[in-house]
Amino acid sequence: MRLVLLGPPGAGKGTQALYIERAFAVPRIATGDIFRHNVGRETELGRAAKAYMERGDLVPDEVVIAMITERLDQPDAGNGFLLDGFPRTVPQAEALEDYLAAVGRPLDVVVRFTVPESEIVRRIVNRRSCPNDGEVYHLEYAPPKRDMVCDICGTPLVHRKDDTEAVVRRRLEEYHAKTEPLEAFYAERGLLRDVDSCGSVDDVTRRTLDLLDGLADGDAA
Ligand code: ADP
Ligand code: AMP
Repeated sequence: MRLVLLGPPGAGKGTQALYIERAFAVPRIATGDIFRHNVGRETELGRAAKAYMERGDLVPDEVVIAMITERLDQPDAGNGFLLDGFPRTVPQAEALEDYLAAVGRPLDVVVRFTVPESEIVRRIVNRRSCPNDGEVYHLEYAPPKRDMVCDICGTPLVHRKDDTEAVVRRRLEEYHAKTEPLEAFYAERGLLRDVDSCGSVDDVTRRTLDLLDGLADGDAA
């Protein structure tokens, strides 16, 4: 299974990615997580991305594309992958398409999570994240079992610097301007499928896995 998760910040991509990863045994490749890891370690890549991320702007295409092609070359991506947060612009989508065509491994499906904007802001400002394993929590909807540490690994949770209302507004502008055109890009290729991301996490997981199970059983995307 080779799939892309599409949808605005806060749509629930990271939350659902963990379930898909387990159900289909494919690695989750989340560009935001890779950037944050590099920012934390002050690598060259982290230095190139940091200021853009803090403002809520997209990191330049050439930086993202170089990073993702290197990641997709790793052996664990050979039997499928789940892209979370990439592509986010038409040039990124074209670069991905060219790369996958060259290796003879085209995408199977692009899942778009839909959710109203008022709900997005509520989800983002109360999000807390595990910097170690990418698990996400929500102070109200999905709190950790123990006070502010990850249920899985015990690492203290963080409030991302870009998870403030002001930066989310900027991220949403970037989404509308640069990422929304991907909906037409993938619809033209017959790859786009919608999942309603309202309701409980369990409801959304059920809808997502039903869709993907159907595709794995041979329903055309
Ligand atoms: P994305 O990866 O698309 O930015 P996340 O998966 O990190 O979004 O979810 C954003 C926030 O919303 C997190 O705090 C998460 O716990 C919460 N969340 C995700 N799905 C739901 C849902 N169905 N109902 C309520 N809260 C949710
Ligand atoms: P995310 O963790 O997906 O919310 O991404 C956090 C931030 O990382 C974004 O606001 C961007 O600044 C940057 N980023 C992540 N993925 C990409 C991408 N595919 N293209 C450009 N910037 C990205």
